[in-house]
Amino acid sequence: KLSVLNNMAGASERTFIMVKPDGVQRGLVGEVLRRFEQRGYKLVALKMIHPPRALLESHYEEHKGKKFYDPLLAYIGSGPVVAMVWEGLNVITVGRKMLGATDPAKSDPGTLRGDYGIVTGRNIVHGSDSESAAKREINLWFRPDEVSNWVHTAERWIYE
Ligand code: UDP
Repeated sequence: KLSVLNNMAGASERTFIMVKPDGVQRGLVGEVLRRFEQRGYKLVALKMIHPPRALLESHYEEHKGKKFYDPLLAYIGSGPVVAMVWEGLNVITVGRKMLGATDPAKSDPGTLRGDYGIVTGRNIVHGSDSESAAKREINLWFRPDEVSNWVHTAERWIYE
């Protein structure tokens, strides 16, 4: 049994979060981890990877042909990223709120992009924007055996 809670449907929702190369270079890996961890979400997968071109083509397939596509792939492929999977109630939607808007200039202070970013092309962090995207991205970046199913013993203090 992976949860002590019987009444918390949805607490096993998962999202894919990635610290982009600028976030790594700027020393924000710990900050991103800290915010999700301290919020109460459960970290179930984590790795540093210098993403190969084919992986990024797959990840960003919806943007192929757009004018920012080539610079985007060059940017994300320019260095290692830190890929992670977080689990918890509404983590996809709440995770996106914690990131802020795509354009840091439109992100509220208190969000990662609103606190640390200035331009869209260097917006520090990625987060899945829907259930289907989360599923697709988690499967793309992680093998099943790289995702840990563990009991979060604090969950009874996080959920009611
Ligand atoms: N991007 C960009 N210029 C744009 C739009 C997007 O450089 O005009 C980059 C930016 O890094 C963004 C990523 O492409 O995070 C994916 O865009 P999307 O619209 O999916 O935004 P996200 O879901 O990342 O907020």
